[in-house]
Amino acid sequence: MQREIFAYKCKKCGHVHYPYRMVCAKCHHLEHNEFDAVPLPKKGKLVTFTFVHNLPADFSVAKLGLCIVELENGMRMTGQMNIENPKIGMPVVGKTEVVRLEEFQKSYGMVFYKA
Ligand SMILES: [Zn+2]
Repeated sequence: MQREIFAYKCKKCGHVHYPYRMVCAKCHHLEHNEFDAVPLPKKGKLVTFTFVHNLPADFSVAKLGLCIVELENGMRMTGQMNIENPKIGMPVVGKTEVVRLEEFQKSYGMVFYKA
């Protein structure tokens, strides 16, 4: 199943927001359902990153990479990173997937995604 992360395009001025906003940041248009959901680009470049080494016991990895990526459309977003030797400015390709175990989801009733 193909998963997407969506941005929200103002129907009045075309400005694209991520994450969702109630009011357009550019034209301040405020009408219910006045945004179109548009999929975010998959490609971008790595702006910055860090690794978290002190993870909760239910994590199946020794460290967790977190990053900020500038997408092809200029938007920036945070996400988890699965790159062994990351370099700032390197091209990256994002994907969206469930990253926690099904048993954990049943226990806590949550689903986690990464991009
Ligand atoms: Zn607008």
